[in-house]
Amino acid sequence: MKKKGKNTILARSGLQSDPVFGAVVPPVFLSTTYTFDGYDGKREHDYTRISNPTRELLAQALAELDGGAGAVVTASGMSALVLALQLLRQGDTVLVSHDCFGGTFRVGSSYTEKGLYTVVFVDMNDEAALREAFTLRPKMLIAETPSNPLLRIVDIEKIVSLCKVNDCLSVIDNTFLSPVQQRPLDFGADIVWYSTTKYINGHSDVVGGALVARDKEVYEELLWWAGNLGLTGSPFDAYLTLRGMRTMDVRIRRQSHNAQQIAAMLDAHPAVGKVYYPGLPAHPGHALATRQQDGFGSVLSFDLKGSTQNVMALVERLSCFSLAESLGGVESLVCHPATMTHRAMTEEARAKAGITDQLVRLSVGIEDADDLIGDLREALE
Ligand SMILES: *Cc1c(COP(=O)(O)O)cnc(C)c1O
Repeated sequence: MKKKGKNTILARSGLQSDPVFGAVVPPVFLSTTYTFDGYDGKREHDYTRISNPTRELLAQALAELDGGAGAVVTASGMSALVLALQLLRQGDTVLVSHDCFGGTFRVGSSYTEKGLYTVVFVDMNDEAALREAFTLRPKMLIAETPSNPLLRIVDIEKIVSLCKVNDCLSVIDNTFLSPVQQRPLDFGADIVWYSTTKYINGHSDVVGGALVARDKEVYEELLWWAGNLGLTGSPFDAYLTLRGMRTMDVRIRRQSHNAQQIAAMLDAHPAVGKVYYPGLPAHPGHALATRQQDGFGSVLSFDLKGSTQNVMALVERLSCFSLAESLGGVESLVCHPATMTHRAMTEEARAKAGITDQLVRLSVGIEDADDLIGDLREALE
């Protein structure tokens, strides 16, 4: 059968899977336990920590969207990271993007401090630094592209090929774009990592995560560990996420369209310094993003001119952007990374990653672009 398009997968995955009533929308199976079909008669599911019909439907949809052998759905994005790390042995070296998500930085540095793994933070665009990092014989590389909050773009194909010659597993955090705008497995990556909390669920009401593996063996090992350790996501969360995901492409197209217009406005505004959005031709990753991505996403950051006082005034004046962490929902959010999402980073690490105290991050929603732009203009003035 011809491979289906992503919108067909999104709209139809798992439909009509109810054999009892013929429900069009798959029901949610909350039961923790499943009967055996007589003595020694284990059915497809026995206990929800290990496997669950509803969670399985979400996993199948995610695997199909990314073109992987299988997906494992976890309780959060962070538990998906912990799951990926189960593929390693104690003492192994892991390379991680130096400007990664704050939680990833916290896990990486705490595990290193504890002596579990040696996590080395590297600028994935600095070829010399990357080559030197590979002399440490890392077993896993975790890259985030676009990065948070500066939207740096990393060449997935390039780092994956470096991983391949160095016998190192490649994991790409694809949370910022979702499978709708970027498919890392197509560039040879081993694992795609998601916080489904963001664009995949898209409604800011479920925390969840997932890993999609290219190879069956890796998928099976991840699935085994997820069930073993109880990292798997709840069935109800899976139900909601699958429901939210149906409109993912439509949402993301509109959000990106809004983000592009906002970025252009900010770029021309006298109160704004640098604007970080890959959709702007002047962004250093613009050409690469055009090649590697199918759209530029809907998170953008900018440096506000002036003092911390001005940042405070701006974020408190906005009425169409809620002052909150997270991203990827239908509603627009504004965030001050230095005091919010990236607070856990040391000042030194923040400076190294280029996150100033004047930096403001926007997660653009599906509201009317005119309202969002008007709100920003007013607050900037
Ligand atoms: C939110 C996020 C995570 C962590 O996911 P949770 O669902 O909050 O546990 C990881 N990576 C990125 C890029 C994120 O935005």
